[in-house]
Amino acid sequence: MFENFSRELRRLGLNRGVRIPIKLPLDDKGYFDRRCPHQQCGADFKILFNDWRDKVSDEAAFCPKCGDRSDPTEFNTPWQRRHIAAVGKAYAAEQINQAFRRAARSTRTRRISGGLFDVTMKVTYKAGPKDIVLPPKADDALRQDLACEICKCRYSTIGAGYFCPACGHNSPLSDFRRTLNMTMKTIDGLDRIKQAFSEFNDADAAEDFERQWLENQIEDLVTAFQRVSESLFRRLPGAAALSWDANLFQRLADASRMWTQTCGHGYEQILEPSEISTLQIMIQRRHKIGHTQGMVDARYVQHSGDRSYDVGQRLVTGRQHVRELVAILTKLVDGLQNLAP
Ligand SMILES: [Zn+2]
Ligand SMILES: [Zn+2]
Repeated sequence: MFENFSRELRRLGLNRGVRIPIKLPLDDKGYFDRRCPHQQCGADFKILFNDWRDKVSDEAAFCPKCGDRSDPTEFNTPWQRRHIAAVGKAYAAEQINQAFRRAARSTRTRRISGGLFDVTMKVTYKAGPKDIVLPPKADDALRQDLACEICKCRYSTIGAGYFCPACGHNSPLSDFRRTLNMTMKTIDGLDRIKQAFSEFNDADAAEDFERQWLENQIEDLVTAFQRVSESLFRRLPGAAALSWDANLFQRLADASRMWTQTCGHGYEQILEPSEISTLQIMIQRRHKIGHTQGMVDARYVQHSGDRSYDVGQRLVTGRQHVRELVAILTKLVDGLQNLAP
Protein backbone atom coordinates (compact mmCIF):
# COMPACT_ATOMS: atom_id res chain seq x y z
CA MET A 1 0.00 0.00 0.00
CA PHE A 2 2.62 2.57 1.02
CA GLU A 3 4.87 1.60 -1.88
CA ASN A 4 1.95 2.16 -4.19
CA PHE A 5 1.26 5.48 -2.54
CA SER A 6 4.81 6.73 -2.86
CA ARG A 7 4.86 5.65 -6.51
CA GLU A 8 1.64 7.63 -7.05
CA LEU A 9 3.20 10.64 -5.33
CA ARG A 10 6.29 10.46 -7.55
CA ARG A 11 3.98 10.33 -10.55
CA LEU A 12 2.36 13.61 -9.50
CA GLY A 13 5.71 15.37 -9.65
CA LEU A 14 4.74 17.79 -6.85
CA ASN A 15 8.37 17.80 -5.71
CA ARG A 16 9.54 19.02 -9.16
CA GLY A 17 7.03 21.89 -9.31
CA VAL A 18 3.87 21.88 -11.35
CA ARG A 19 1.97 24.59 -13.18
CA ILE A 20 -1.48 25.31 -11.80
CA PRO A 21 -3.75 27.74 -13.61
CA ILE A 22 -5.03 30.28 -11.07
CA LYS A 23 -7.65 32.85 -11.90
CA LEU A 24 -7.19 36.20 -10.16
CA PRO A 25 -10.09 38.62 -10.09
CA LEU A 26 -10.12 41.68 -12.33
CA ASP A 27 -12.18 44.81 -11.75
CA ASP A 28 -15.14 45.69 -13.95
CA LYS A 29 -12.88 47.56 -16.39
CA GLY A 30 -10.65 44.49 -16.82
CA TYR A 31 -7.83 45.92 -14.69
CA PHE A 32 -5.64 43.84 -12.45
CA ASP A 33 -4.43 44.88 -8.95
CA ARG A 34 -0.68 45.13 -8.52
CA ARG A 35 1.60 46.22 -5.69
CA CYS A 36 5.15 47.59 -5.98
CA PRO A 37 7.62 45.19 -4.33
CA HIS A 38 10.05 47.98 -3.39
CA GLN A 39 10.57 48.04 0.38
CA GLN A 40 9.96 51.76 0.85
CA CYS A 41 7.29 52.21 -1.81
CA GLY A 42 4.74 49.38 -1.87
CA ALA A 43 2.38 51.52 -3.99
CA ASP A 44 -0.86 49.94 -5.21
CA PHE A 45 -1.74 50.36 -8.86
CA LYS A 46 -3.79 48.66 -11.55
CA ILE A 47 -2.96 47.60 -15.05
CA LEU A 48 -5.26 46.44 -17.85
CA PHE A 49 -4.90 42.66 -17.64
CA ASN A 50 -4.40 42.26 -21.41
CA ASP A 51 -1.53 44.77 -21.29
CA TRP A 52 0.04 43.01 -18.30
CA ARG A 53 -0.06 39.79 -20.34
CA ASP A 54 0.97 41.24 -23.72
CA LYS A 55 3.13 44.31 -23.04
CA VAL A 56 5.00 43.50 -19.83
CA SER A 57 8.07 41.37 -20.54
CA ASP A 58 8.83 38.15 -18.63
CA GLU A 59 11.95 39.81 -17.18
CA ALA A 60 10.75 43.06 -15.63
CA ALA A 61 7.84 45.31 -14.76
CA PHE A 62 8.07 48.84 -13.35
CA CYS A 63 6.33 50.59 -10.48
CA PRO A 64 4.48 53.71 -11.76
CA LYS A 65 5.33 55.59 -8.57
CA CYS A 66 9.00 54.87 -7.84
CA GLY A 67 10.13 53.26 -11.13
CA ASP A 68 11.44 50.16 -9.32
CA ARG A 69 12.34 47.47 -11.87
CA SER A 70 11.48 43.99 -10.58
CA ASP A 71 10.51 40.51 -11.70
CA PRO A 72 6.82 40.67 -12.77
CA THR A 73 5.99 37.78 -10.42
CA GLU A 74 6.86 40.02 -7.46
CA PHE A 75 4.00 42.46 -8.09
CA ASN A 76 1.25 40.38 -6.43
CA THR A 77 -0.78 42.07 -3.70
CA PRO A 78 -0.84 40.39 -0.26
CA TRP A 79 -4.39 39.16 -1.00
CA GLN A 80 -3.25 37.65 -4.31
CA ARG A 81 -0.28 35.97 -2.61
CA ARG A 82 -2.57 34.38 -0.01
CA HIS A 83 -5.04 33.34 -2.72
CA ILE A 84 -2.29 31.75 -4.85
CA ALA A 85 -0.90 29.87 -1.82
CA ALA A 86 -4.40 28.65 -0.85
CA VAL A 87 -5.22 27.49 -4.38
CA GLY A 88 -1.82 25.76 -4.61
CA LYS A 89 -2.38 24.02 -1.27
CA ALA A 90 -5.88 22.89 -2.24
CA TYR A 91 -4.54 21.60 -5.56
CA ALA A 92 -1.78 19.62 -3.84
CA ALA A 93 -4.25 18.23 -1.27
CA GLU A 94 -6.62 17.12 -4.01
CA GLN A 95 -3.80 15.48 -5.99
CA ILE A 96 -2.57 13.65 -2.88
CA ASN A 97 -6.09 12.49 -2.07
CA GLN A 98 -6.48 11.12 -5.55
CA ALA A 99 -3.08 9.40 -5.31
CA PHE A 100 -4.23 7.86 -2.06
CA ARG A 101 -7.42 6.59 -3.67
CA ARG A 102 -5.53 5.07 -6.59
CA ALA A 103 -2.99 3.47 -4.25
CA ALA A 104 -5.80 2.08 -2.08
CA ARG A 105 -7.60 0.64 -5.08
CA SER A 106 -4.51 -1.20 -6.29
CA THR A 107 -3.70 -2.66 -2.88
CA ARG A 108 -4.94 -6.10 -1.96
CA THR A 109 -5.64 -5.70 1.68
CA ARG A 110 -5.28 -8.62 3.99
CA ARG A 111 -6.83 -7.97 7.30
CA ILE A 112 -5.79 -10.01 10.27
CA SER A 113 -8.82 -10.23 12.44
CA GLY A 114 -8.33 -9.54 16.09
CA GLY A 115 -4.94 -7.94 15.42
CA LEU A 116 -3.48 -5.12 17.38
CA PHE A 117 -4.16 -2.55 14.70
CA ASP A 118 -7.32 -1.87 12.89
CA VAL A 119 -6.37 0.31 9.97
CA THR A 120 -9.05 2.32 8.29
CA MET A 121 -8.37 4.66 5.48
CA LYS A 122 -10.37 7.76 4.96
CA VAL A 123 -10.12 9.81 1.78
CA THR A 124 -11.15 13.38 2.18
CA TYR A 125 -11.25 16.24 -0.22
CA LYS A 126 -11.54 19.84 0.81
CA ALA A 127 -12.59 22.17 -1.97
CA GLY A 128 -10.16 24.96 -2.75
CA PRO A 129 -11.11 28.62 -2.51
CA LYS A 130 -13.51 29.85 -5.13
CA ASP A 131 -12.71 32.83 -7.34
CA ILE A 132 -13.87 35.93 -5.59
CA VAL A 133 -15.02 39.06 -7.34
CA LEU A 134 -13.83 41.94 -5.24
CA PRO A 135 -16.24 44.82 -4.81
CA PRO A 136 -14.84 48.08 -6.23
CA LYS A 137 -12.96 49.89 -3.52
CA ALA A 138 -13.80 53.40 -2.44
CA ASP A 139 -10.51 54.69 -3.81
CA ASP A 140 -11.55 53.59 -7.31
CA ALA A 141 -13.37 56.89 -7.59
CA LEU A 142 -10.02 58.67 -7.19
CA ARG A 143 -8.06 56.61 -9.64
CA GLN A 144 -6.49 58.13 -12.73
CA ASP A 145 -6.50 56.02 -15.87
CA LEU A 146 -3.27 56.59 -17.80
CA ALA A 147 -1.75 55.33 -21.05
CA CYS A 148 1.96 55.23 -21.88
CA GLU A 149 2.81 57.52 -24.79
CA ILE A 150 5.46 55.05 -26.00
CA CYS A 151 4.06 51.50 -25.64
CA LYS A 152 0.37 52.44 -25.06
CA CYS A 153 0.14 50.28 -21.93
CA ARG A 154 -2.97 51.25 -19.91
CA TYR A 155 -2.72 51.52 -16.14
CA SER A 156 -4.25 53.37 -13.18
CA THR A 157 -2.83 55.04 -10.11
CA ILE A 158 -4.16 57.02 -7.20
CA GLY A 159 -2.39 60.35 -7.52
CA ALA A 160 0.44 60.81 -9.97
CA GLY A 161 1.90 57.93 -11.99
CA TYR A 162 5.39 58.70 -13.26
CA PHE A 163 6.55 55.48 -14.96
CA CYS A 164 4.93 53.07 -17.41
CA PRO A 165 4.66 49.63 -15.72
CA ALA A 166 5.48 47.85 -19.01
CA CYS A 167 8.38 49.85 -20.52
CA GLY A 168 9.40 52.11 -17.61
CA HIS A 169 9.03 55.27 -19.71
CA ASN A 170 8.89 58.54 -17.78
CA SER A 171 7.35 61.53 -19.55
CA PRO A 172 8.67 64.99 -18.59
CA LEU A 173 5.69 66.44 -20.49
CA SER A 174 3.16 64.59 -18.33
CA ASP A 175 5.15 65.47 -15.20
CA PHE A 176 5.12 69.14 -16.25
CA ARG A 177 1.36 69.27 -16.86
CA ARG A 178 0.72 67.47 -13.58
CA THR A 179 2.93 69.88 -11.64
CA LEU A 180 1.08 72.89 -13.07
CA ASN A 181 -2.29 71.31 -12.46
CA MET A 182 -1.43 70.50 -8.85
CA THR A 183 -0.09 74.01 -8.26
CA MET A 184 -3.30 75.61 -9.52
CA LYS A 185 -5.51 73.24 -7.53
CA THR A 186 -3.56 74.02 -4.37
CA ILE A 187 -3.67 77.79 -4.95
CA ASP A 188 -7.44 77.56 -5.40
CA GLY A 189 -7.72 75.74 -2.07
CA LEU A 190 -4.99 77.69 -0.28
CA ASP A 191 -7.31 79.69 2.00
CA ARG A 192 -8.94 76.50 3.27
CA ILE A 193 -5.57 74.80 3.69
CA LYS A 194 -4.28 77.82 5.65
CA GLN A 195 -7.40 77.81 7.77
CA ALA A 196 -6.84 74.17 8.69
CA PHE A 197 -3.16 74.90 9.31
CA SER A 198 -3.91 77.78 11.68
CA GLU A 199 -6.33 75.57 13.63
CA PHE A 200 -3.60 73.23 14.80
CA ASN A 201 -0.79 75.81 14.75
CA ASP A 202 -1.36 79.54 14.81
CA ALA A 203 -2.02 82.34 12.35
CA ASP A 204 1.71 83.21 12.10
CA ALA A 205 2.58 79.66 11.15
CA ALA A 206 -0.17 79.68 8.52
CA GLU A 207 1.30 82.85 6.95
CA ASP A 208 4.79 81.35 6.94
CA PHE A 209 3.40 78.18 5.45
CA GLU A 210 1.88 80.12 2.54
CA ARG A 211 5.08 82.07 1.87
CA GLN A 212 7.19 78.94 1.90
CA TRP A 213 4.73 77.02 -0.26
CA LEU A 214 4.60 79.81 -2.87
CA GLU A 215 8.40 80.00 -2.98
CA ASN A 216 8.58 76.22 -3.44
CA GLN A 217 6.18 76.52 -6.38
CA ILE A 218 8.52 78.92 -8.18
CA GLU A 219 11.32 76.35 -7.83
CA ASP A 220 9.14 73.39 -8.83
CA LEU A 221 7.60 75.11 -11.84
CA VAL A 222 10.92 76.34 -13.22
CA THR A 223 12.49 72.89 -12.69
CA ALA A 224 9.55 71.19 -14.45
CA PHE A 225 9.87 73.69 -17.32
CA GLN A 226 13.61 73.10 -17.62
CA ARG A 227 13.08 69.33 -17.89
CA VAL A 228 10.20 69.50 -20.34
CA SER A 229 11.84 72.06 -22.64
CA GLU A 230 14.98 69.94 -22.87
CA SER A 231 12.99 66.78 -23.57
CA LEU A 232 10.91 68.51 -26.27
CA PHE A 233 14.07 69.94 -27.82
CA ARG A 234 15.51 66.42 -28.06
CA ARG A 235 12.57 65.50 -30.29
CA LEU A 236 13.75 67.93 -32.99
CA PRO A 237 15.38 66.11 -35.90
CA GLY A 238 18.53 68.27 -35.68
CA ALA A 239 18.97 67.93 -31.89
CA ALA A 240 20.85 64.63 -31.92
CA ALA A 241 23.91 66.24 -33.52
CA LEU A 242 24.11 69.01 -30.91
CA SER A 243 25.45 69.08 -27.39
CA TRP A 244 24.72 71.50 -24.57
CA ASP A 245 25.56 72.04 -20.92
CA ALA A 246 23.26 70.91 -18.11
CA ASN A 247 21.94 74.42 -17.38
CA LEU A 248 21.28 75.62 -20.90
CA PHE A 249 17.51 75.23 -20.62
CA GLN A 250 17.33 77.55 -17.63
CA ARG A 251 19.06 80.33 -19.61
CA LEU A 252 16.17 81.70 -21.66
CA ALA A 253 18.14 83.61 -24.29
CA ASP A 254 20.58 80.75 -24.95
CA ALA A 255 17.83 78.14 -25.08
CA SER A 256 15.68 80.25 -27.40
CA ARG A 257 18.69 80.71 -29.71
CA MET A 258 19.18 76.92 -29.86
CA TRP A 259 15.54 76.41 -30.81
CA THR A 260 15.79 79.12 -33.50
CA GLN A 261 18.97 77.61 -34.95
CA THR A 262 17.48 74.13 -35.00
CA CYS A 263 13.89 74.68 -36.17
CA GLY A 264 13.59 78.36 -37.13
CA HIS A 265 11.40 79.33 -34.14
CA GLY A 266 12.42 80.55 -30.70
CA TYR A 267 10.62 81.68 -27.54
CA GLU A 268 10.12 85.15 -29.14
CA GLN A 269 7.69 83.63 -31.64
CA ILE A 270 5.60 82.14 -28.84
CA LEU A 271 5.64 84.69 -26.00
CA GLU A 272 5.14 88.47 -25.84
CA PRO A 273 8.24 90.48 -24.81
CA SER A 274 6.60 91.30 -21.46
CA GLU A 275 6.00 87.57 -20.83
CA ILE A 276 9.65 86.79 -21.61
CA SER A 277 10.74 89.50 -19.12
CA THR A 278 8.46 88.07 -16.41
CA LEU A 279 9.73 84.56 -17.05
CA GLN A 280 13.30 85.84 -16.88
CA ILE A 281 12.58 87.42 -13.49
CA MET A 282 10.95 84.22 -12.19
CA ILE A 283 13.90 82.08 -13.25
CA GLN A 284 16.27 84.45 -11.43
CA ARG A 285 13.98 84.40 -8.39
CA ARG A 286 14.14 80.65 -8.38
CA HIS A 287 17.94 80.89 -8.10
CA LYS A 288 17.70 83.27 -5.18
CA ILE A 289 15.06 81.17 -3.41
CA GLY A 290 17.26 78.11 -3.85
CA HIS A 291 20.64 79.65 -3.03
CA THR A 292 20.15 82.75 -0.85
CA GLN A 293 16.77 82.09 0.78
CA GLY A 294 15.30 84.85 -1.36
CA MET A 295 17.81 87.55 -0.39
CA VAL A 296 18.46 90.00 -3.23
CA ASP A 297 22.07 90.37 -4.33
CA ALA A 298 23.80 92.30 -7.10
CA ARG A 299 23.66 89.31 -9.44
CA TYR A 300 19.88 89.18 -9.14
CA VAL A 301 19.49 92.87 -9.92
CA GLN A 302 21.83 92.54 -12.89
CA HIS A 303 20.48 89.29 -14.42
CA SER A 304 16.75 89.51 -13.74
CA GLY A 305 16.12 93.03 -14.98
CA ASP A 306 13.84 93.41 -11.92
CA ARG A 307 14.24 97.00 -10.75
CA SER A 308 11.74 96.80 -7.89
CA TYR A 309 14.26 95.53 -5.31
CA ASP A 310 17.53 96.80 -3.89
CA VAL A 311 20.42 94.60 -2.85
CA GLY A 312 19.83 93.28 0.69
CA GLN A 313 16.02 93.07 0.44
CA ARG A 314 14.11 89.84 0.53
CA LEU A 315 11.98 88.80 -2.47
CA VAL A 316 8.25 88.61 -1.85
CA THR A 317 6.46 85.80 -3.66
CA GLY A 318 2.71 86.24 -4.00
CA ARG A 319 -0.05 84.06 -5.41
CA GLN A 320 -0.22 86.29 -8.50
CA HIS A 321 3.46 85.51 -9.28
CA VAL A 322 2.75 81.80 -9.23
CA ARG A 323 -0.44 82.13 -11.32
CA GLU A 324 1.38 84.32 -13.84
CA LEU A 325 4.25 81.85 -14.09
CA VAL A 326 1.83 78.95 -14.66
CA ALA A 327 0.09 80.90 -17.46
CA ILE A 328 3.36 81.83 -19.20
CA LEU A 329 4.84 78.33 -18.94
CA THR A 330 1.63 76.76 -20.25
CA LYS A 331 1.70 79.06 -23.28
CA LEU A 332 5.41 78.48 -23.92
CA VAL A 333 5.30 74.69 -23.56
CA ASP A 334 2.18 74.45 -25.77
CA GLY A 335 4.08 76.42 -28.42
CA LEU A 336 7.22 74.27 -28.09
CA GLN A 337 5.13 71.12 -28.29
CA ASN A 338 3.77 72.33 -31.63
CA LEU A 339 7.32 72.79 -32.87
CA ALA A 340 8.35 69.32 -31.66
CA PRO A 341 5.24 67.13 -31.85
ZN1 LIG B 1 7.26 51.61 -6.15
ZN1 LIG C 1 5.24 52.11 -21.88
